[in-house]
Amino acid sequence: MLELKSLKGIGQSILNKLNKAGINTVTDLLLHLPRYYQDRRTIIPIAHTTAGEKQQIEGVIRQVNINDIGKKHLTCYFFDSSGVCKMHLFKFYSNQTRLLQKGKIIRCFGEIVHNHHAVEITHPEWQILTDEDKGKKLGNIIPIYPTIEGISSAVFYKLILQLKDQIKLDEYMPLSLLQKHQLENINQALHTLHFPKNDNFDNLYNLSARARYRLALEELLAHNLNAKKARLHNQITSSARIAVNHTLLKTFLETLSFQPTPAQIRVINEILYDFTLNKPASRLVQGDVGSGKTVVAGAIVIQAAHNKLQSVMMAPTEILAKQHYHNLTNWLNIFNIPVVFIAQQLTTKARKEALKTIENQDNCVIIGTHAVFQNNIDYPNLGLVIIDEQHRFGVEQRLSLIEKAKTKNWQPHQIVMTATPIPRTLAMTVYGDLDLSIIDELPPNRKPITTSVLNQTKKQILITRLEQHIANNGQAYWVCPLIESSEVLITLQDAQSLFEMLSNMLPCARIGLIHGKLKAQHKEDIMQAFKSHELDILVATTVIEVGVDVPNANIMIIDNAERLGLSQLHQLRGRVGRGNKESNCILLYHSPLSNTAKKRLELMRKTQNGFVIAEEDLKLRGPGDIFGTNQTGGIQFKVADLSQHQALFDDVTNIAEAIIKQYPKHAEKIIHRWLNKTDEYIKA
Ligand code: ADP
Ligand code: MG
Repeated sequence: MLELKSLKGIGQSILNKLNKAGINTVTDLLLHLPRYYQDRRTIIPIAHTTAGEKQQIEGVIRQVNINDIGKKHLTCYFFDSSGVCKMHLFKFYSNQTRLLQKGKIIRCFGEIVHNHHAVEITHPEWQILTDEDKGKKLGNIIPIYPTIEGISSAVFYKLILQLKDQIKLDEYMPLSLLQKHQLENINQALHTLHFPKNDNFDNLYNLSARARYRLALEELLAHNLNAKKARLHNQITSSARIAVNHTLLKTFLETLSFQPTPAQIRVINEILYDFTLNKPASRLVQGDVGSGKTVVAGAIVIQAAHNKLQSVMMAPTEILAKQHYHNLTNWLNIFNIPVVFIAQQLTTKARKEALKTIENQDNCVIIGTHAVFQNNIDYPNLGLVIIDEQHRFGVEQRLSLIEKAKTKNWQPHQIVMTATPIPRTLAMTVYGDLDLSIIDELPPNRKPITTSVLNQTKKQILITRLEQHIANNGQAYWVCPLIESSEVLITLQDAQSLFEMLSNMLPCARIGLIHGKLKAQHKEDIMQAFKSHELDILVATTVIEVGVDVPNANIMIIDNAERLGLSQLHQLRGRVGRGNKESNCILLYHSPLSNTAKKRLELMRKTQNGFVIAEEDLKLRGPGDIFGTNQTGGIQFKVADLSQHQALFDDVTNIAEAIIKQYPKHAEKIIHRWLNKTDEYIKA
């Protein structure tokens, strides 16, 4: 098949962006599926538009008013033979507004609002028609693609259109299976999704749901086959021997400043039992935020060290790695176990010392970011690898990590830890190679987090309260969800303007701002400043780091909470409630609330149990939800969605077995098609 490069419109810069998002081949591009469709076949006379629907209208511009001072606002009136429409823009640039001139023809597509009797449209997609455009016939049914940074839906469409007559993927699913379930061939399915026929918009959603189902099945198979492969590999591999010393465990637990929970002890024992078997442990430890997973890590690295084996503990960010480093250094000190820290940016001296310890101390514990497996660091004696917050990467990345961690004689034991509750069906399908341990209780000293739901119109009261909180030496998070720019809604609070507003209103407060566009190092510096209380309020988008412990921060405000999925709300709330003070979580919403949103917020108010929340998340999640689409249990699927494809999960394991038996080569190819992405975690 074609190479990506050979498509018209792909230059080096677009290619880099695609690659960064894991799109490396034409097949990857084809698996980037539309999220919904727009009907651009007709232009509706302004007076005949339907409120609440996304429609296309067109008219001659009569007047443009631009307010550029303070809160930006542009209004543009245009009319057709039936009536007038008022367009609002709240974000705009001068190079765009220059185009909006009296007498020009504007074409808009967006949600129609009827405000009393006036027709209005806010932030539509709009274009000024050139003379050339005017002669052209109208549009089609247009697929709308998820955007990635720097690549709009329109660009994706332009690229994919070039493939219209060239979709020739191999079919790897057994024909009998497709027939039995009445599923399309892969190429037909891709055609249905990317190139909808112009005459059947009403039926399109049925057709596309069917095609998605077909692709979701194959995607889930890829994950399951991959997990099966990993498990098989494990069974024939020898591991480092770790003889368990129970007295040592007891001593360790007694030195802690707190009483370990029964769940922590149970999970530690489950892992230590794995060590006694002759194959590498491969276990997923799930425990809600704050359930105390780090202690589990501490307990098992001590056993490895006692057996003269090295352990690596890897965290997704430097700040988390440092946090682990400090905890473990404290705990392991009395056992005389050396602990070293590895990160991308170490001074030459620190690096040299760390490397020396790794070379000479056969019982040391190495803690760091992904840098622990880069830069050609050799671990001559590695017996155990612990990966914290593993939802940042998938099975594929984990396997390649293990490959790097291998020594001459054995494969290290592997423990992954996550705070994301993963529903059982999903865990079995996607993490079939891992055994499961669950820390299902929080330490008893935890003060519950009081959660309240507040209309954003009452923000002022909240800010006054925040002021008092800070005067009493308190700290708080204020999170604003980020949203793709094509869907900007005026009600949405964005982090930057919130930061400015709070800075104005609370001049005494030290406020930090953190969002995805910042460089990793800059983000960590801000987190660090918040942690050491050089900042009082941290305004953040949802990129806010997982797992960072700031015990003094005990207020979490989540703006536009109605736009977030339950799991995400739960993760965010877990940032507070880590100290010895009572904590509060305030969920701000903009009315009107949909029924589902109402239920979500209510559930958040009622429970703090992550597993209950994860299960409900699936039930309450509608196909149209913008947030958390395809994000299930922390795994980013291209197509599969646990809430819609639940039925598939039950079949996948069996189908995978049949494929392995009958078509072993196809099994490999399915894995390759779906999981052949760049190793984001390792490269990050
Ligand atoms: P997790 O990684 O599971 O989110 P951590 O390991 O960071 O949680 O632990 C959160 C906090 O709880 C830490 O300050 C830790 O020292 C403390 N902690 C862990 N276990 C217990 C326990 N059994 N009793 C009291 N505090 C605990
Ligand atoms: Mg943790």
